[in-house]
Amino acid sequence: MKIPELLAPAGNMEKGLTAIEYGADALYLAGKQFGMRAQAGNFELHEIGQIVEVAHKRGVKIYVTVNVMPHNNEIDSLPPYLEELEELGVDSIILSDPGVLQLAKEFAPSIPLHLSTQVSTVNYRAAQFWANAGISRIVLARELSRDEIASMRQNTDVELEIFVHGAMCMAYSGRCLLSNFLTGRDANRGACAQSCRWKYAVVEEKRPGEYFPIEEDERGTHIFNSKDLCLIDYIPDLVQIGVDSLKIEGRMKSAYYVATVVRAYRMALDLYAEDPENYSLPNEIREELDKVSHRPYWAGFFAPTDAGIHYATSSYVQTHDVVGVVEDYDVEKGQAVVLIKNRLCAGEKVEIMEPRGPVTALTISEMIREDLGEPVDEVHANYRVRIPMPLVKPFAMLRVER
Ligand code: SF4
Repeated sequence: MKIPELLAPAGNMEKGLTAIEYGADALYLAGKQFGMRAQAGNFELHEIGQIVEVAHKRGVKIYVTVNVMPHNNEIDSLPPYLEELEELGVDSIILSDPGVLQLAKEFAPSIPLHLSTQVSTVNYRAAQFWANAGISRIVLARELSRDEIASMRQNTDVELEIFVHGAMCMAYSGRCLLSNFLTGRDANRGACAQSCRWKYAVVEEKRPGEYFPIEEDERGTHIFNSKDLCLIDYIPDLVQIGVDSLKIEGRMKSAYYVATVVRAYRMALDLYAEDPENYSLPNEIREELDKVSHRPYWAGFFAPTDAGIHYATSSYVQTHDVVGVVEDYDVEKGQAVVLIKNRLCAGEKVEIMEPRGPVTALTISEMIREDLGEPVDEVHANYRVRIPMPLVKPFAMLRVER
């Protein structure tokens, strides 16, 4: 029995290091050059080098997305970039364009090549085609059922990666210009503004401001709105099918989101590996996934239900908010040094979620601001405080129920 790799998004260095601590086997990330240039985050080349070094020491792999659809004027800058990536020792390049595939084989010949989900591979003949062209792994389209993935596995030897958690498109993954057209943010450069989730109406062009009253319910119409994918209930099926990698969506999501989701899937996979015969997913693990911002979950095309993909509002669901991240622990004083992420008050009850550890409850007895050296009753984002608590690991997260 082979337990699939757990692959996490790394929108920046903080999120990447967090994912490693919380149990990811591999990270995918974008460089600034061929990632989403207009957005904050992503990695400079030297940062890719740094995270490769840290990750490799921990046995974690680094995959770099070069899955833009480059135009002619971008082609000349690809060879030096691909050469740099090879020199930095990244473990794969994720691409979607045949021109980039050719260039990667020529200028980064030692790096395994993964085919992006944006190619929408939905049959095994297409998978065989890409394998013959030099692709070692295919990130399958999200629009596949359990049986179709199993059939794909039986008919090809190429590695298969599937999305198990996160946002879904109303188009074939990313093959959509809504965001680009409405905001200038290109889904094909990882910068989608999720414009499909917005509230739409019909307006006749000669009557601006007069909205044609189409209604699904009292809140209006959310015609393109999708629930979020969650396959944590299907770990045994995923292992038995023989997929190689389970991918979590969300390079734009917070470090807290990455920590919580990676931790839940890590625990589920480890539990299954320990005793597959008697495995059942504990409720506490499933419930962890409700403590991050999300839309209602469904199992996508993997195991469709009558409830369907459509979500009738544009709002998110979240029961908990992160309030701080542990940066250090002072053993002598029994205090954690916490970087505050959201307002926190003395006397509040928090949960502490530890990397590869338990979730414990704590009432904040005291907070001492690092810059003042004095106790405070209330503290806001970006301050550092010392909080007395039992020993915790760095990267532990403090959260409160809202
Ligand atoms: S706007 Fe929606 S459908 Fe289009 S790429 Fe973004 S998430 Fe997908």
